[in-house]
Amino acid sequence: MCEICEVWTAEDLYPCRVCTRVFHDGCLREMGYLRNDSVQELTETAHTSMGWSCYYCDNINLLLTEEEMYSLMETFKQCKIIPESCLGSDDFLSYKHFVSRQLFDEQMTEEMEELELGQFSALDPEKRGQIEWADFLYHESIRVLEKFRSQNSLVRLLTAKERERARASFTALDQDKDGLITGGESKKAQHTWFRKHTKESQSCNVRLVGLCSPVLNFSISHVGPISESSPASSGSGKSRDQDENRQVDWLEFLKENAIYILAARPNSGAVHLRPPL
Ligand SMILES: [Zn+2]
Ligand SMILES: [Zn+2]
Repeated sequence: MCEICEVWTAEDLYPCRVCTRVFHDGCLREMGYLRNDSVQELTETAHTSMGWSCYYCDNINLLLTEEEMYSLMETFKQCKIIPESCLGSDDFLSYKHFVSRQLFDEQMTEEMEELELGQFSALDPEKRGQIEWADFLYHESIRVLEKFRSQNSLVRLLTAKERERARASFTALDQDKDGLITGGESKKAQHTWFRKHTKESQSCNVRLVGLCSPVLNFSISHVGPISESSPASSGSGKSRDQDENRQVDWLEFLKENAIYILAARPNSGAVHLRPPL
């Protein structure tokens, strides 16, 4: 039954990939929830493995409590961030410097700055040199959740559909069926939740399926030799190996991936929380 008009029609109802709601595209348009370009996105993705998020689930800012929201807005104000306007990489970095000093009482290192610049480009998939207000807001909202909520409470935010998808990924990784996978496999999974609708994927559906199905990605990475990225700093090589080889069960997998599953909810092409490489 359509969430908006409450009428059930067998055809042309579009499901949300996160919650159980379904919608008519006409009703969404009438209510102003869809702009013209997002109508096309809806009809192209909702019935594919990529899926589409409804307006409740797309807006991850709604996951914050009133208090969290208030303090985020205060920080924006103090840093002279103007709501509804785009941000360049300079604005983004100076905001990050401010937050680092103000909230964590530490100076950002060059390495941290590099990471934030990487996050900026992940928020700017079309490489326009600036990021949309909504993408910035969603990114900062996810950061708030990451910093101030426990992993258990993040897991509780996942919907049945999200848990189901995570379960399928875990099962595909656990090839010997002993209920355990490696830390490396769990980390790699963090990248697979982001199923983005890009210009490229529009023109090539085959590639889209390959890119967007976590199960398929896993089976590919299992076949070929797994190319481990070279350890960035030689000193951490051993602990990195330990981390890669540690055993991870289903609950631990869910905890390590929950924040990225939530970050992957918005339909926008931006990646709102870049997993560690
Ligand atoms: Zn309807
Ligand atoms: Zn939804």
